[in-house]
Amino acid sequence: MRSYKLTGVVLKNKDLGEVDGIVTLFTKEIGKISLKAKGVRKIKSKLSGHLMPLNITFIQAVQGKGSLDTITGAVSKEHFSSLKGDLKFLSFAYFFLEIIDKLTFEKEPSEKIYDLLIKGLQLLDSKNIEKPEILKTAFSYNLIKILGHKPKIDSCVKCSIPFNLESKKIGFDLNLGGAVCKSCNELNNKDTLPVSFDSLKVINAFDKCDLKDISRLIMKEKYFREALKIINSFNYYIFEKDYKSENLIEIIKTF
Ligand SMILES: [Zn+2]
Repeated sequence: MRSYKLTGVVLKNKDLGEVDGIVTLFTKEIGKISLKAKGVRKIKSKLSGHLMPLNITFIQAVQGKGSLDTITGAVSKEHFSSLKGDLKFLSFAYFFLEIIDKLTFEKEPSEKIYDLLIKGLQLLDSKNIEKPEILKTAFSYNLIKILGHKPKIDSCVKCSIPFNLESKKIGFDLNLGGAVCKSCNELNNKDTLPVSFDSLKVINAFDKCDLKDISRLIMKEKYFREALKIINSFNYYIFEKDYKSENLIEIIKTF
């Protein structure tokens, strides 16, 4: 049986029978993969500590007879312990894991997604983030972009007229995946959300800035809110997924 090595972030664990588990990772080498972890739920398991969600772990696996390959060895190289000790940051980290799990397919490698995930987790672990909600949206934006749905925001998606400070009554057409000018913005189009030029600038910053600089952006709160609403609605519109971790984020906010 062929054995191989991977490095990846553990996205989730699932029980399999009495003592085994299925571990899903997003790896540098082959993207998302689910592997069988034998005996991982036994108290004395040597593997379990290394296979906790969020860990970056070196994996050795062997090709299985069934649909899943089996983990034969695991050593975690990063636990993000600072992040794990803080419920608020942890809830955002779970969102990163969940959105990557839900929007990617198995064995489709993407170094860009891997790097985005590592960078997002490192930033949360540094706790040097004032507004994790903005980081979360920038993270979603970048993932949507890597997956081939970059929204068009610098000019009208229908007539290509560029936007500027004078542009009024701009809309964001979820179906067309971009902003529409006043003349092209049909009334009563349920797929179009109002958006201001300044909010488009926030989205542009998600596109151009490094993730670590996002929370340092200076912009009025209402423009951030509007940009967040656009990106989150666009995400739901394209992929039609709900994220359990968003409930967790809301609950923890009220503590
Ligand atoms: Zn137009």
